[in-house]
Amino acid sequence: MPGYHIPSQERILRALGKVLGKRRVISSQRELKSLLDRAMSGDGEYRVSGPRARRIAYGSGLVDMEIECRETQELKSLFNCPVCSHRLKLVKNMTVFGGTVTLGYKCPHCPYWTGIRRRVPTRYIFTRATE
Ligand SMILES: [Zn+2]
Repeated sequence: MPGYHIPSQERILRALGKVLGKRRVISSQRELKSLLDRAMSGDGEYRVSGPRARRIAYGSGLVDMEIECRETQELKSLFNCPVCSHRLKLVKNMTVFGGTVTLGYKCPHCPYWTGIRRRVPTRYIFTRATE
């Protein structure tokens, strides 16, 4: 038996609200995870995985998410988003931050996009969403 509990989504969202009350920017998925773990530690020990923390945080609408990627030499097509696993859309002549790619894929759900050379996410930056 593990010495900690898997938190419910509600508990994670409560913790996220608490964290965002003090922080405007969370500069990585690892930091998000550890801030949430700490915020949930009042009544027992809870741990959320990094990817789950990211999915719930982004899905909550409470944060804007920026994705930093590195470009690989890999030319294989992607079908599902590596960030949120939604199906990617093929785009021609996509204009993105810093330029244009003639052919690529874009996620309809999150900010991930890639050109023909696959971009691999390396860092996520979360900023408190402004209303
Ligand atoms: Zn996505």
